[in-house]
Amino acid sequence: MDVLDLSVLLAILLALIAYFSKGKLWAANNDDSNSSLKSNLNNTNDLIEIMKKSGKKAVVFYGSQTGTAEDYALKFSKEFQSKFKIPTMTTDLADVSFENFENIKNEIPDFQLAAFFMATYGEGEPTDNAVEFFDYLKNECDDLSNLKYICFGLGNSTYEFYNEIGKKTVNELNSKGATLLGNLGLGDDGKGSMDEDYLDWKDNLFDLIKDKLNLQEQTVKYEPSIQIIENFEIPIDDLSVSLGEPNSNYINPKSENEINYLKTGPFDHNHPYLAPILNTKELFNSNSRHCIHAELDLSNTNLKYSTGDHVAIWPSNSNEKVNKLLSILGLTEKKDLVISLKTLDETIHLPFPTPTTYETVLRHYLEISGSVSRQFIKSISQFCPNEESKILIDEISNDKDIYHKTITSKYYNISDALEFISKGIKWDNVPFSFIIESIAKLQPRYYSISSSSSMEKQTIHITAVVEQQKIDETYVTGVTTNLLLNIKKNQNKDDDSLKLIDTFDLEGPRNKFHNKLPIHIRRSTFKLPSNPAIPIIMIGPGTGAAPFRGFIREKIKQLENGNENLGEILFFFGCRNSTEDFIYKDEWIDYSKKLDKKFKMITAFSRETDKKVYVQDKLLENSSKVVELLDKGAFFYVCGDAANMARGVQNTLVKIYQNEKKVTQELALTMAKQLRVNNRYQEDVW
Ligand code: FAD
Repeated sequence: MDVLDLSVLLAILLALIAYFSKGKLWAANNDDSNSSLKSNLNNTNDLIEIMKKSGKKAVVFYGSQTGTAEDYALKFSKEFQSKFKIPTMTTDLADVSFENFENIKNEIPDFQLAAFFMATYGEGEPTDNAVEFFDYLKNECDDLSNLKYICFGLGNSTYEFYNEIGKKTVNELNSKGATLLGNLGLGDDGKGSMDEDYLDWKDNLFDLIKDKLNLQEQTVKYEPSIQIIENFEIPIDDLSVSLGEPNSNYINPKSENEINYLKTGPFDHNHPYLAPILNTKELFNSNSRHCIHAELDLSNTNLKYSTGDHVAIWPSNSNEKVNKLLSILGLTEKKDLVISLKTLDETIHLPFPTPTTYETVLRHYLEISGSVSRQFIKSISQFCPNEESKILIDEISNDKDIYHKTITSKYYNISDALEFISKGIKWDNVPFSFIIESIAKLQPRYYSISSSSSMEKQTIHITAVVEQQKIDETYVTGVTTNLLLNIKKNQNKDDDSLKLIDTFDLEGPRNKFHNKLPIHIRRSTFKLPSNPAIPIIMIGPGTGAAPFRGFIREKIKQLENGNENLGEILFFFGCRNSTEDFIYKDEWIDYSKKLDKKFKMITAFSRETDKKVYVQDKLLENSSKVVELLDKGAFFYVCGDAANMARGVQNTLVKIYQNEKKVTQELALTMAKQLRVNNRYQEDVW
């Protein structure tokens, strides 16, 4: 038997094993690659060792909380590697040990570059996964003079500490002697310009690093890091196949341990709790605007929250968006075909469980519904279905103004844009691995919990306004909030008068999501003072009222528990109209009765009078009361819109201090800042 015969026999043997195991082997692989998704090489977490073993010459780190920095890091890494033919590793800062980082240039002599994609979180804090890295830089690292690096910060200019962590990364690395190439990139989510900020920074930077590092530029060509294997022999209902379950433990739990896993935390993005939805109702429905109140049941789990925390809800995409994308990619016929994913780069993680199906990937794992980025359109141009589309796509994607006029201003998502560019011709030569690698992973949406953990220990309330914007004759919709509207309609058996723009598969994978949503809790620092006698001032227009409903319910519980000495509660609420979108209107009256003179609610209705009135105006009108309470040690809370309201309230408070205390603007600013320093000015804004 010669070598050829042997290899043919081996291939037949492998095919037989694959057939008779019906994917169980992939399933086993899947289990390994789930949650922490460590690859073989990551048996060690020593960065240098991993890079040496895998032959990497550059590394891209990300400090990411919601997945955006990770997404940009992955895109950068792919383009950098393809453009300069430098094997590049991308990693979560928390997944590797920096022990030998100072020796990187000695250990890997042809090491080229480190890149940092750093998101700023909360009040100028690092993301959870970047905390240890800063600790390393501060306490363990002495000398990085051999390191050349670049840095892109992701922040929001409506917050005071804009891109603080990007700046801090540069300061700390420079203080250890590292050399920043080019400028610190500043991506601004507040202005909605993150994509363009990134593209401007990156395009300039590539020219610069090409010179500085003496690199040869190649034409960027997509090189897959993931292989897609179509498994015609595995049926879709095989238990090895993930249909959108967070991991294989959710598929068919049998043993006590497996069942407990679903009920017992800690819960996070890899292990959400499937929370039963007790009930849902509409708080208002006017002019096609909806606001949903939903109650999630925690009675069957050890998942706990405390008043002021956030709940993360994991959505799935709508039937319309999934079907449209399947169709334009020419995958409709194959939507239920089982596919396995295999990494072609030993340092990367599979982004979700495998085997799975084409439809599952688009429905449960990728962010397919939002606006499509210029970067995506640029990179998909290599797979245009015809020359005409190629000419159009190059014209659109190389100029940000034309892109804005043609794509962004029309609110196109990925499938809309592809359909527009090709005039409906299918993009059936786009590798599915490209789709997986180029589209951001579907992320959870956060909601400020509107219940009190003392009053409703085992129930979480949320208050969500449904995102539906009417543009000409079509609607632009948000994923999670329209899913909530669907659940509400289904649960309450509403008639057809409640029109749904998007519809969802409410039964979920293997019908296991019926009246359930995958959730986890994010601890927040937005908390009531520990001493109930301290007064509180709360400013929460619209759904900004959500956590304050929780705070007030907490206060009522304190009263019911015999705490007579409650501090005063002053609540500023605003909406358009007292008869249109005044959420929890009856509840506030009830709370006021229970809390008696302790509670005062002041309302601002922006559309009831000729001149628009906002919470800031009402705050100013009540300057003396506000200062009286602040002088008594009151805590000041703001919740809701970050872009305009939160900044407006902050400026108003400075004015209030100026007027009431007769001090200069500078001193008033210092007084307002001091409140923050003392943790008495707290924001929960988005
Ligand atoms: P997404 O799918 O995320 O869409 C976001 C927006 O993009 C929508 O307005 C949508 O219409 C628009 N959009 C969709 N497609 C396109 C397109 N092609 N082009 C342009 N635009 C498009 N919200 C609340 O209602 N209540 C709360 O209590 C609350 N608390 C929060 C607390 C925190 C800490 C944070 C971070 C956010 C909070 N939010 C809250 C906001 C909430 O997390 C979501 O952002 C919001 O509900 C929208 O989610 P969605 O999935 O429906 O919309």
